[in-house]
Amino acid sequence: MIAIRTNRAEYRNDIAEVIRLFCGLSDIALYDEMEPDAAELVFDLQMDRKGSRYHLLSRVAEFTDTDTFELPYRPTPLTIKKLEKRALKLSCYRLLKQLYPEVQTPWGSLTGIRPTKLFRELMQECGIEYAREMFQETFDVSLKKTDLAERICKVQEPYLYVLSPKDIDVYIGIPFCKTKCLYCSFPSEILGREDRLPLYIEALKRDIAAGAALAKDRKMRVRSFYMGGGTPTVLSAKQLDDLLSFTRSQYGSFGGEATVEAGRPDTITLEKLMVLKRAGIDRISINPQTMNDETLRRVGRSHTANDIRFIYDLARRVGFELINMDLIAGLPGENSEDMQASCNALAELKPDNLTVHSLAIKRSSLLKSKLEEYPLASAEQAEIMMAIGANCAERMGMNPYYMYRQKYMTGNLENVGYALQGKECVYNIDMMEETTSILSHGAGTMTKRVFRGENRIERLPSPKDVPTYLEKLDRLIDEKCRFFA
Ligand code: SF4
Repeated sequence: MIAIRTNRAEYRNDIAEVIRLFCGLSDIALYDEMEPDAAELVFDLQMDRKGSRYHLLSRVAEFTDTDTFELPYRPTPLTIKKLEKRALKLSCYRLLKQLYPEVQTPWGSLTGIRPTKLFRELMQECGIEYAREMFQETFDVSLKKTDLAERICKVQEPYLYVLSPKDIDVYIGIPFCKTKCLYCSFPSEILGREDRLPLYIEALKRDIAAGAALAKDRKMRVRSFYMGGGTPTVLSAKQLDDLLSFTRSQYGSFGGEATVEAGRPDTITLEKLMVLKRAGIDRISINPQTMNDETLRRVGRSHTANDIRFIYDLARRVGFELINMDLIAGLPGENSEDMQASCNALAELKPDNLTVHSLAIKRSSLLKSKLEEYPLASAEQAEIMMAIGANCAERMGMNPYYMYRQKYMTGNLENVGYALQGKECVYNIDMMEETTSILSHGAGTMTKRVFRGENRIERLPSPKDVPTYLEKLDRLIDEKCRFFA
């Protein structure tokens, strides 16, 4: 167990996130809240303030770090919080670098899931050079990752430039899957509970109708529509048809872009593809994760690489001109040759978007409890596999256009979405950069309200599990109306 002893306990979670960059899934708690001899390692972080001047003294094992900083003239409470948090995290990071010099942290001390959002904010504050300098000098981000963040921000610019204050994105969540993947922590219901689907769809329609009325009342404009999961194509063709035409009629339009995560090929049929096409869906994802049959079996997916090829071909013949495919670098038992083989297979198919994830060991996944059984890639191997994914995207003529990080990612890396020029997914950009409000419907979804002028975001989550969502829907609908009041 790792202990944090600090006079600023309100930042315990932020400090713990930095420790996790180096110590992965270790248990971390406040020193005062644990048995005195349970602590194997104690991070002691003390911060004192005199007027606008701060002094930090941090220790772990035989290592020490000291720092001082000054608040700017007339700081807002938000600025004070931001600077205090940053100083504590950086001090802890410097200690960890001394303690574990062998651990790779390509994103330096950054722990948030949206490095590009931070890069853009810094760029807007004082320009590109300032943003680059902060990334590399202050946060210790590698040159390669700084370049990646800058490149993505540039690709996103035209999409963010045209945003209007009344724009919203509409999201629908279908938290059902055919089988549970080994690495998944998403609270999706495994199908087999088909009995819950009709009830869920009925509830979802009430949620959608209320959201559409709210959007109309507030004169919001739909910029994009996205149906994700789980696996939305576990719905029958009839259910998909019904739900999509209902949503479109309620909102009046899907905006400029409509996406459905078709996800797993074992849930897709010709009939469903035709329903999606007729309903006005212009982008779908067909996500192999790997083109290695043995790995697919190992991670609990009941389809083969050939099924993926077949469904991809079918989708093209039905007329889908925008198809995204996902790969995961570092799946259990895979090495860089497997990654290269998957990339080559995808390059033959020529998708329009490619998303390359690095494997994250989620706490509630089956994989976490079976780590001894499944050999995982090292940080170096994970980095090589991500580079193979990036090269593959480059060879297909794509640019990186959005990215995000998750906790417990192999090698402290990132997930990157690549796209052919002009074929970027607006919803993915909006969601990751948090530049647009999102009206979400369904269990386990997040409605967001973005106050653009104030650089402020409020979030309203819906219950994660389906039974609680069904039970609390009326209250949730009321909350959503008040949320956008
Ligand atoms: S398809 Fe996606 S949501 Fe469903 S179990 Fe697999 S990883 Fe989880």
